[in-house]
Amino acid sequence: MESGRNTKQKQLILSILKDAELPMSINEIYAKVVDQLPKIAKSTIYRNIDALLSQNLIDKYHLNDNEVFYRIKSDRNEHKHFVICDDCKKVFDLPSCPIHEIESTMEEEGFLIKKHQIQISGICKECIGKSKNKY
Ligand SMILES: [Zn+2]
Ligand SMILES: [Zn+2]
Repeated sequence: MESGRNTKQKQLILSILKDAELPMSINEIYAKVVDQLPKIAKSTIYRNIDALLSQNLIDKYHLNDNEVFYRIKSDRNEHKHFVICDDCKKVFDLPSCPIHEIESTMEEEGFLIKKHQIQISGICKECIGKSKNKY
């Protein structure tokens, strides 16, 4: 059954993202899915991810020069942003979202905001410590 198999794939992707906690790139997700479903095509994973996005179960982020990352939402209203380290590619939570205030101002002007993204990259503390002369 096509739909049953799709559900199983989606559940697998969800559980992988759940274990990861931090955003994963499509290649990282693919590597883990292939462990369990060796015959799956990357396009199938993309299709499942699109379905999960439209169900609002996961979030999509552009980090690291627009590479796309995915992350599970703990609830559908959850709202988070991330910062990525250019060196080790580790991903950190942004402590809060500064955009909401700007959004309310825009909406008072009659603009309907549908979504926003924040893209920040830099060097994390650990990497700075490792290569003091570089930065
Ligand atoms: Zn780093
Ligand atoms: Zn935000």
